[in-house]
Amino acid sequence: MRNKRLIAVLLIGALVLLGAVAAAYATTSVRTGEAAAVIFAGQEVQPVESVFSEPLPGGLLSKRVVQDSADSASDLGLLTVATLPLKIDAYGQETSSASTEVRGEVLLTLWLDDEEVFSGTPEEYEKFRFSENGLYRAALKIERPGDELMSRAVFNYGMSFELDVQPIVLFSSDRARQGDILSVYVNRGFAAEAPEIETELGTAIFLPLSSDEYIAYIPINYAQTLGKWMIDVSVGGEAYEQGIIVTGRTYKEQHMTISQATTDATMNNPDGPKNWAERIKVLWETYDVEKYWDEAFIRPCDGRISTEFGLYRYTNKNPVPTRHTGIDIAAPAGTPVLASNSGRVVRAEDIIYTGNTVVLEHGGGLKTYYFHMETMEVKEGDLIGRGTVLGTVGSTGYSTGAHLHFEVKIGSHSLSPWELFDGTSELYFDVGF
Ligand SMILES: [Zn+2]
Repeated sequence: MRNKRLIAVLLIGALVLLGAVAAAYATTSVRTGEAAAVIFAGQEVQPVESVFSEPLPGGLLSKRVVQDSADSASDLGLLTVATLPLKIDAYGQETSSASTEVRGEVLLTLWLDDEEVFSGTPEEYEKFRFSENGLYRAALKIERPGDELMSRAVFNYGMSFELDVQPIVLFSSDRARQGDILSVYVNRGFAAEAPEIETELGTAIFLPLSSDEYIAYIPINYAQTLGKWMIDVSVGGEAYEQGIIVTGRTYKEQHMTISQATTDATMNNPDGPKNWAERIKVLWETYDVEKYWDEAFIRPCDGRISTEFGLYRYTNKNPVPTRHTGIDIAAPAGTPVLASNSGRVVRAEDIIYTGNTVVLEHGGGLKTYYFHMETMEVKEGDLIGRGTVLGTVGSTGYSTGAHLHFEVKIGSHSLSPWELFDGTSELYFDVGF
């Protein structure tokens, strides 16, 4: 008797509870919101499945809503670079304020031919490098914790792609004129080490453009002997070779006189060679492994070109000419001198031969030189932007009147500024990807 009554009570209790759960289930709403915006290897991918769950009152049970995408895993096609960035942006603008960042667990897993090659967080993935070509699958799981505005959610993304990475080595040209600059672009592919370069034309180094991409600038000296010269690049143990045919440039002649007093104070100063060697020539050996600029070089000041680049100069009837390795821009003393491009100030001081002298490093050993200035307004070590005022035009050092001597060099090689100004230089080599 007693047992039967107990069962009846339990049965009624269970029914009441079930009714309460059913009522709670019916009245609980699941707030879905938008899935996180995911961009993998530059392509937007959509979740294949989204699971939303909202706890019922009491917290023991939850109401689930599963949304399946009509599409299966995203096919990203053929990918040819070794770095495939993962970007997870937000859960959409209209969701809760805190939801613009991923707060829950995020897990990316990668398989090559069904064998797992990576599993970890986006931070761990940033350090991962692909090392083999083949057919890949990827699964990405993003958890969104529930809050007062959104239900808890798990978004599952699937991707597939074929990886076919090869090192890319591109030479901007196989020809150059004296005074030109050539570029060599490298995408190192799976190679673990940075590429290396050797040339018969002058020292060049590779500057990193991204984790896999590099650029090197090759100087063609203004007086480079004409003929064929080699550039050798090595990437991941493979050698790439390119011959460069160097052709001539036409240079003018100039005859001038310069006073004995000026010559004695500068070119004949016994301290001149040592000062030049220790303060300027040392810079020919320095190469910053960073590209500081991304816009074209500009003329440092307005004015008539009083002495052209590369010109043969006959001074005081001396039958042996000197060469003019930059351009002279005649301008009134006090005219502002602007940085031709962004860079690092590697020299700003009075030099016996060249007076108040500023030298800027733009990266990869590419430097611009500013001579004979009246004043200097930058100091060594400054990182400056294109167009920064370096000082003013003057006539200090070995100079006969107010002008700016402007020179472009890579290492010890003097180069033509004109193609840098007009944008036609292969310094601006654009590989198009
Ligand atoms: Zn000059």
